[in-house]
Amino acid sequence: MTNTSPQRVAIVTGGARGIGAAITTALAKSGVHVAAGYSSNAAAAEELAGKLGAEGCSVSVHQGNVGVPEDCERVVQEVLDSHGRVDVLVNNAGITVDKTMRRMSVEDWHAVLRINLSGAFYMSKSVLEQMIANKYGRIVNISSVVGQMGNIGQVNYAASKSGLFGFTQSLARETANKGITVNCVAPGYIETEMVAAVPEAAMEKILARIPVGRLGQAHEIARAVQFLVDDDAGFITGSVISVNGGMDM
Ligand code: NDP
Repeated sequence: MTNTSPQRVAIVTGGARGIGAAITTALAKSGVHVAAGYSSNAAAAEELAGKLGAEGCSVSVHQGNVGVPEDCERVVQEVLDSHGRVDVLVNNAGITVDKTMRRMSVEDWHAVLRINLSGAFYMSKSVLEQMIANKYGRIVNISSVVGQMGNIGQVNYAASKSGLFGFTQSLARETANKGITVNCVAPGYIETEMVAAVPEAAMEKILARIPVGRLGQAHEIARAVQFLVDDDAGFITGSVISVNGGMDM
């Protein structure tokens, strides 16, 4: 970030745990004000904000369900009221409800699509007009290697994460001449609570498919996000950065 830039303001959905916490930490430590979103785990959000605040970083926390458009509008308004702008949006919040297609209910399908895909639409829509007015914006959508390759037991999750690719490219085309970039980061298997829920036998099979031979770390995803949201990354839009240990080669 150059010295002539204003202090950038970022919203990171699901920004207090797992990959989101690593993104919040990396951006906050680079001098960005980060508004970290959470849905139910207020304690984790307060703890992270307190820790980073003690290190001289600027972090606020905001409760809201990204699957509810009114919550998304309210959270964005809270950030605009206190900081006057939103330069960066990282659509990171996500869930899994894993079942084979035969067992998956209509509600299982909609629950995952509502948060993982519609959530990115609601949040992006809520920040878009002021990004256009500012002629500046960086939107990064956290997809998944599962959106690129599919996975047994995850038709809902894979569809939501594939959907983010089309969403990203279409919004990137709509905003490319307005100073706004829209990109995806597609993580492979990263050591977080989401992956800790995978049974041991399944984990052995996953590790055998990762050429690098290990799970990724949350800070390795944050590094890619930080690169894409930099002021100097204005010529990268509609792209996907895969951070997956070579899994889709
Ligand atoms: P975690 O389960 O560790 O954290 C999920 C975060 O999303 C939490 O902060 C949670 O908030 C938030 N969240 C969940 N539902 C909602 C909601 N309805 N509204 C707002 N926030 C919500 O997940 P990870 O860190 O592992 O994953 C983060 C992203 O990365 C997800 O989009 C996931 O699909 C993606 N990803 C993860 C991979 C992995 O290996 N871990 C691999 C590929 C992609 P709260 O703290 O309040 O519960």
